Amino acid sequence: MKTQEDMAGLIHPLAAKYLRTERLPHKACPGCGIGQVVHCTLNVCEDLNLNADNTVWVQGVGCSSRISYTLWKGDNIDAHHGRILTVATGMKMSRPDLNFICFTGDGDCCSIGGNHFLHACRRNLDVTTLMFNNSIYGMTGGQVAPTSPVGAKTPTTPYGNMEDPMDTVNVAIAAGAAYVARWRSTDFKQLTNSIKKGIQTKGFSFIEILVPCPTQYGRYVLGTSNPIEVVQWYKDHTVTLKKSEKMSPEELKGKFLLGEFAHNEDRTGIVERYWDAVKKIQDGRK
Ligand code: SF4
Repeated sequence: MKTQEDMAGLIHPLAAKYLRTERLPHKACPGCGIGQVVHCTLNVCEDLNLNADNTVWVQGVGCSSRISYTLWKGDNIDAHHGRILTVATGMKMSRPDLNFICFTGDGDCCSIGGNHFLHACRRNLDVTTLMFNNSIYGMTGGQVAPTSPVGAKTPTTPYGNMEDPMDTVNVAIAAGAAYVARWRSTDFKQLTNSIKKGIQTKGFSFIEILVPCPTQYGRYVLGTSNPIEVVQWYKDHTVTLKKSEKMSPEELKGKFLLGEFAHNEDRTGIVERYWDAVKKIQDGRK
């Protein structure tokens, strides 16, 4: 692993501007896609002028959160496992003027925090959630996750996973999220634009990011820890929404769809309604 001294001169100018460089080098495994998402987010910081005065970073528990925890200049909050959206709810309700950007994993968001995920969508809570989906519990040793495919052999499913994975994008849409998208961590341009759009959208924004995890998902489920082969697997098993329109159900079997699935700003959310009510009550007292 590189030391702080090794990093001298290697730090990207945007990282120097927006990150606590004393937290570098990061702790991701070689070939992990999490750093690519951090890179896209740095571009968004620059484009939207996100800084310590207007943005709060919220992390849960898992690889994505461990890597981004206390990384950003400004306020960083680390929530208990699965409670990221409840913590974000409390903070956003009291400080509606700030941007809240939540970094969570598929286990954190959909399993331990599944209930909170549903209600954040239902309430149309005005925060941006980046869900890093590596389809497995990475940090704790490769256990099966609610996003693991049927048949996946992991340390906790030695005979193969018998459960269907959660269709997170459709759950978010059905529960009422305002903005919903899914990209791979390697889709730099699309992902950067989506994060930007998510922050600018009034309401709950949910962006799922397929993150190659050579160390656990590659090793246990794909049978390879080679990062290039894992990235290639995602290339072979993803298709854009546009392209999917010309494909048969048989051709789409086992493929992740990529793109923007919902962008609906017509519905107000809990933050706006709450502060409207507070204002009315206060005006009534005058
Ligand atoms: S275990 Fe997987 S997701 Fe976690 S840091 Fe390593 S490669 Fe990335």
